Amino acid sequence: MSISYQEAVGVSTTIEIIACIFALFILRSVMKDNKETPYLFGYFISSLLFFYFLNKSTLEIGNTGWYIEDLLGSLTSLFFGLTICKKGHSEWLCKLLIAAFIAFSASILFVANHVHYTMSFSAFCILLAFVSLVRTKNLNQADKGLAIFIAVSLLVIFYELNSIPHNISRIEYYASDFYYPLVYFSSLILVLTVFIFTSQLINLTLKYKTLATQDALTGLYNRTSVYDLVNNQLSLAKRNKQACAVLMLDIDHFKQVNDQHGHQQGDDAIKLVAQQIQHCTREYDISCRYGGEEFFSFLTNTDSNLGFQIAERIRGSVTEHSKDKAYGPLTISVGLTQFDKTVSLDDNIAQADKALYQSKQAGRNQTTIN
Ligand code: GH3
Ligand code: MG
Ligand code: MG
Repeated sequence: MSISYQEAVGVSTTIEIIACIFALFILRSVMKDNKETPYLFGYFISSLLFFYFLNKSTLEIGNTGWYIEDLLGSLTSLFFGLTICKKGHSEWLCKLLIAAFIAFSASILFVANHVHYTMSFSAFCILLAFVSLVRTKNLNQADKGLAIFIAVSLLVIFYELNSIPHNISRIEYYASDFYYPLVYFSSLILVLTVFIFTSQLINLTLKYKTLATQDALTGLYNRTSVYDLVNNQLSLAKRNKQACAVLMLDIDHFKQVNDQHGHQQGDDAIKLVAQQIQHCTREYDISCRYGGEEFFSFLTNTDSNLGFQIAERIRGSVTEHSKDKAYGPLTISVGLTQFDKTVSLDDNIAQADKALYQSKQAGRNQTTIN
């Protein structure tokens, strides 16, 4: 028994899509919050039906010269476009795609040249997917791969549109060497799925990495992640024989902020201090939220004189920026020590903490060097 090319492509594509659907269900358990998942599912199902009907004797819709696989092919392109646009949070491009599909479906009855018309609609959907992808901020490696494959698919479609005779009917097109684009687009389902899944996994990993290293309220590093970062900076500072400084900063009389203005205002005050610490330090300095309203900063290439200036700048800046707030003006106390490379990071932090305690003892709202 011999099978046709069309059947061979149909069988392999069916297996690919079923595997993709399985993978989608498995991934769904860890990525419940992805908005694009239903559209990706729609893309798989319409692709599956498209290849199924392609192997059947063609089914005309009414007497229009329009076939069921044309509609399914267009739906596949629509779902593909929607998947990518949802992934990039391009809501207005999604609306444009849906409006274009409605206009396209309404006008097919009046258009004689079905092959060109359907293919142009697919090109439109893929083009919008490409636009949505390149507009997305912080494209990851998988998104870039996806963008390249989408661009190649567009070239294939435009080449096909350009090379087939203008008035070719669906039957004539199937009788031509249309298997080349068919094989290409069947493989593309798998290629695109691999990139979409990989992109989702990369983003998921990044999200958890951020959650694990950042403090949720302030966006500063959290206490656990800061040790590795400081140790990296320290080895560099040791090699370059640079001085480093450690600051411990604590908001003065913070209990009163919570008591008089509520916990929400208290949280806002903590955020304001974190912002001012970031604003007054350099990009390669490392700051973290050390505890409730206590912060730690590691300043590279900074001796105690410069460290003192930076601490005073932070202190002034916190008071200046909080003076018009309901809970304001805030003051902070700071303890500073020049990093002693012969003892551990914990010992240096303890030194800075002692200096902070002295600032508190001496009446708060000041910086002490230990
Ligand atoms: P001092 O000048 O001696 O530092 O006085 P203080 O009132 O700031 O004293 P302390 O440092 O002991 O107070 C810390 C308070 O910070 C206690 C706790 O209720 C509050 N706090 C800790 N974490 C948070 C937080 O995430 N949000 C808010 N709103 N308050 C917090
Ligand atoms: Mg305090
Ligand atoms: Mg405290």
